[in-house]
Amino acid sequence: MSWRKCGKAGRRHGRNGDEAGFVSVRPLLERLMDADVTIIGAGVIGLAVAAELSERRLSVYVIEKNASHGRGISSRNSEVVHAGIYYPAGSLKAGLCVEGRELLYELCLQHKIPHKKTGKLIIATTENEMDQIGQLMNRAMQNGVSSVCLVDQKQIQEMEPNIRAIGGLYSPDTGIISAHALMDYYLQKAKMNGAEIVCGTEVVSIETEDKGYRIGTLNGQGEGFEFTSERVINASGLHSDIIARMTGKDYTLHYCKGDYFSIANAKNGIVQRLVYPVPEKNHVGLGVHLTLDLSGRMKLGPDATYIDRVEDYKVDADKKDRFYESAVKFLPFIRREDIVPDMSGIRPKLQGPGEAFRDFVISEDMPGFINLVGIESPGLTAAPAIARYVKKMFDGMQSGA
Ligand SMILES: Cc1cc2nc3c(=O)[nH]c(=O)nc-3n(C[C@H](O)[C@H](O)[C@H](O)COP(=O)(O)OP(=O)(O)OC[C@H]3O[C@@H](n4cnc5c(N)ncnc54)[C@H](O)[C@@H]3O)c2cc1C
Repeated sequence: MSWRKCGKAGRRHGRNGDEAGFVSVRPLLERLMDADVTIIGAGVIGLAVAAELSERRLSVYVIEKNASHGRGISSRNSEVVHAGIYYPAGSLKAGLCVEGRELLYELCLQHKIPHKKTGKLIIATTENEMDQIGQLMNRAMQNGVSSVCLVDQKQIQEMEPNIRAIGGLYSPDTGIISAHALMDYYLQKAKMNGAEIVCGTEVVSIETEDKGYRIGTLNGQGEGFEFTSERVINASGLHSDIIARMTGKDYTLHYCKGDYFSIANAKNGIVQRLVYPVPEKNHVGLGVHLTLDLSGRMKLGPDATYIDRVEDYKVDADKKDRFYESAVKFLPFIRREDIVPDMSGIRPKLQGPGEAFRDFVISEDMPGFINLVGIESPGLTAAPAIARYVKKMFDGMQSGA
């Protein structure tokens, strides 16, 4: 692997070289001569993959367009460790969620990553919805989520006296985690293994070469560099289809925004578990639900609205009534005035509006080039399993399998 400067004369990348965790540019340029793998994107997926691959005595470089790691989708989500209930049996989403959840709890315990196994209720408020609860129970069993059990109205009342439900499903293995602490852990592990994280550097072109790929980059001042890398992992989240298209592979992502509203402080603590209604039948979202953060703060959301391809994170305050009407059915203590706009996130969906379920894409579409596309929920939960999956693909490449 080698770098070639292709921008303004005499200037180099590395405007963030003085920030904690980032390399300065000159040593990087020199060390890149020996690099094996380039990972595009320093979200939870890119960092988890970097931590995993750098264990293999491979020299690993992570290129991130933002000024620091973890500012993309991974910083704007519910931070829920999903059990793996919802996804079709046999899908990557189901398998990697179940495997990832177990790995994640182990990691959290070993490395003191803040988390809490809160448990979660999926509840029905009408008899019709009870059919869906039965279907979800079957799916949980198919997916190997054996800890899940059916609960009746009385049991729900005992567990959560402040919610309204006629029955439901209880998942004791669902929890919450600090996504930033997890990413910091992966970053540190990758760096300790020798990986380099280059921030403020956007990948703008990729060309095939005899022994790998030539990658063109630009920094915030419009200065360009290009280098070659034997292998590439595309973990660029909301831009992963654009990066894949640079090698001629045609994916199309649809942006699907999720807004959150918070519930006034005075109500914190009156619900202990995550509470979800039965999910939307179209697999677009899980329905407006109640999540908790590690401080016990309650949030409603995210909803699911397809938007144009713009990273606009402004919360639509006009949705307040819709959030209230959805939530008050099972959270009777909520008053309209308790609900205030909070944050939002954007899902990178392969599934367009009205289309059927689409799975994660984790695919070696070109020799030595792995695309990770459509890594929406449960991507945070699945991250450790996705990293292992990618490592196995690498081992296959190395042995020529
Ligand atoms: C509203 C919402 C709620 C969610 N809730 C949950 C949940 O509770 N539990 C769960 O398990 N999952 C959840 N998810 C899913 C989870 O957040 C994602 O699957 C995961 O964070 C994706 O991580 P990533 O690394 O692929 O993407 P990102 O975190 O976006 O990282 C990709 C990185 O690539 C960088 N990049 C992009 N283009 C370039 C380029 N050209 N050059 C260099 N760098 C580039 C970006 O700047 C970014 O930092 C949720 C998602 C959303 C949107």
